[in-house]
Amino acid sequence: MRIFERRESEVRGYIRSFPAIFDTAKGALLYDEQGKRYVDFFSGAGTLNYGHNNPDITGALIAYLEGHGVIHGLDKATVAKRNFLQKLEDTILLPRHLDYKVQFTGPTGTNAVETALKLARLVKQRSSILAFTNAYHGLTMGALAVTGNSFYRDESYGIRANTAFMPYDGYLGPEVDTIDYLRRYLEDGSSGLDLPAAAIVETVQAEGGVNVARDEWLQDLEHLCREFDILLIVDDIQAGNGRTGPFFSFERAGITPDMVTMSKSIGGGLPLALLLMRPELDQWQPGEHTGTFRGNNLAFVAATEALRYWDNDKLSDAVLFKGAIMKEALESMLEKSPGCELRGCGMIWGLDLKKNGAAKEVSKAAFEKGMLIETSGCDSQVLKLLPPLTIEEPLLKEGLNIIDEALEETVRSKTVFAVGSAL
Ligand SMILES: *Cc1c(COP(=O)(O)O)cnc(C)c1O
Repeated sequence: MRIFERRESEVRGYIRSFPAIFDTAKGALLYDEQGKRYVDFFSGAGTLNYGHNNPDITGALIAYLEGHGVIHGLDKATVAKRNFLQKLEDTILLPRHLDYKVQFTGPTGTNAVETALKLARLVKQRSSILAFTNAYHGLTMGALAVTGNSFYRDESYGIRANTAFMPYDGYLGPEVDTIDYLRRYLEDGSSGLDLPAAAIVETVQAEGGVNVARDEWLQDLEHLCREFDILLIVDDIQAGNGRTGPFFSFERAGITPDMVTMSKSIGGGLPLALLLMRPELDQWQPGEHTGTFRGNNLAFVAATEALRYWDNDKLSDAVLFKGAIMKEALESMLEKSPGCELRGCGMIWGLDLKKNGAAKEVSKAAFEKGMLIETSGCDSQVLKLLPPLTIEEPLLKEGLNIIDEALEETVRSKTVFAVGSAL
């Protein structure tokens, strides 16, 4: 670890949560240099929905490299790009009757978010953007302005102008419909809220603590946006690519966003990000929003292969099936941990331990037992389960058992919970 401590910036993060030197990986398993095996319930924060080194994806990459396929092409036309666009159109867009144009941005999620915000402002000629409490959209300046967590937001960055935060579904308790609340602000010319160009939302706030918006809430948000001429951007970077069951996380609510940001698993494990937009919104001049690494050809090859999982409903069905196994196991853990709360859907689940830092302790104990699992929520109070969608059932169960044991050793044994709880 010495070279990392000596040379790598203090900004390094996950290396601290998971202090091992990882060497190889396959499916839902990671191995460190000593050969210790870890079950991965983190999946690169949702980048490895199809597993580490998925053999079909790796095979396609090797064949492409051996055939001298173009690796870097700026945004020129390549066979790899054509194949990806064709596959996306045939397998994802046409069957869902979605007519979106595709913009390839720089390869990170935050690039796609920046692009969406910029385009919304350009199209609507209004600068204000609406975001929601506990949102996470990335950490470049524009994306950071719509990210909620104060840990990431420093006053000195001075980029908070022209964004407004409104309460997400459930933020004000189960009694308050936060869309009504938002409506009041929009209707009232003296509320102080500028009419936004766009609202950006996650259907499931993954980093924000695994908060799931209800279908109705999403539908009401869509109606409100239409009524007030506000563009609706769904950030599907973490919840998309099948994490909640369907390919897009918003399919369950039957809404059609004006723009959708995608990254993380879209590249099959390689860096790729894109923005989907209604064709009328595609008002860019050629080259107006550009960059060197837009459209990464190796990632196109991986992404095209990954989209083959969507040729039929098998993966979607598996997500719902394995999601139910996760839910059941977590519910029984919940019984032993009174006062905690379980949230999630598909194969993203959050166990809210309702105590600052508690999930960090569980994650640490789980790591020692050979598991990678991350925390979420602004106080690291939520344990976030995000295994690869392709995880084998026995490994999934093994992972769930490790979590149960880690909970037993940390929070439960330390009587973190209210007096009188069943320990
Ligand atoms: C990870 C994430 C981002 C940012 O993506 P990066 O590739 O880390 O820049 C944006 N939005 C959501 C919902 C995310 O989960």
